[in-house]
Amino acid sequence: MQLNLGDKHKVFIQNIQFLSPVSPHKTDILRLDAIHPIISGNKFFKLKYHLIKAKQEGFDTVATFGGAYSNHIVASACACKTVGLKSIGIIRGEEPTNKSNSLLQSASFGMQLIYVSRLDFKDKEAIKAKYENEKYYWINEGGYSRLGAEGAKDICSWIDESYTDIVCAVGTGTMMAGLVAGAMPHQKVTGISVLKGATNLKQDMQALLRPSDVQKNYELIDGYHFGGYAKHPKELIDYMNDFYKTTNVPTDLVYTAKLCYAVEDLLMKNYFNPNSKIMLIHSGGLQGNTSLPTGTLLF
Ligand SMILES: *Cc1c(COP(=O)(O)O)cnc(C)c1O
Repeated sequence: MQLNLGDKHKVFIQNIQFLSPVSPHKTDILRLDAIHPIISGNKFFKLKYHLIKAKQEGFDTVATFGGAYSNHIVASACACKTVGLKSIGIIRGEEPTNKSNSLLQSASFGMQLIYVSRLDFKDKEAIKAKYENEKYYWINEGGYSRLGAEGAKDICSWIDESYTDIVCAVGTGTMMAGLVAGAMPHQKVTGISVLKGATNLKQDMQALLRPSDVQKNYELIDGYHFGGYAKHPKELIDYMNDFYKTTNVPTDLVYTAKLCYAVEDLLMKNYFNPNSKIMLIHSGGLQGNTSLPTGTLLF
């Protein structure tokens, strides 16, 4: 079964020159953000096999979890509408009076939003149990799943053997697991965590790998979260604007800006081999920038 969620032909590879002093490395960025304005970047890949399965197994409703600014929630809402599935978003926290753009958009795609207190949100099984009489196809928070990783593996079809390094931003680790699974033996996958103090991230990511892939060459790097998940101090905003001015690449404040910043910093610290050819993954997420006051960003 094929699902037309976005346009893979729009994906392109762009060479980028970082701001800081020249390095001998070649750096390119895979513009997955171009696939679709909403089901953008890695969300397209993480959702597709779930939606195929939901349809094949005769479900008419998909239910999933996320925060008020979640790219996964918006992408799920839009993707479900596109393929003719109903959707339910279980949202962390009380219903806000001023709803985020993500929530407003999700609702506009017909997603039913159910607000759950932060405490109750922690127990996903208890939430699911409340709806056990409904026939819902459940997708984990952030799309964390083997099937999601299986979809993300397809991202490697754009990365030929000339690349030595693949670098991506990491939330749940699902995309990174897919990249590790799809990488060639000589390629190293480096994941930049955008979470503060996510001590189980490596284990969570590895849990999505086949045993034979656990030994492959990959590394998770901490310390580029800028204060925590979705935190965006002025330094990061300035970086996003500067990066856009030199490369013409728009980044999102939660994931890809921190990814680009980290790669630049790692280049300066000689993390990569001098003759490496690096592919950064632009995993999308630009819709999240709408939470910033207008005029904050140049793009
Ligand atoms: C969701 C998201 C990620 C994180 O992906 P995981 O598979 O959860 O690690 C990275 N980048 C962007 C832009 C995202 O929206």
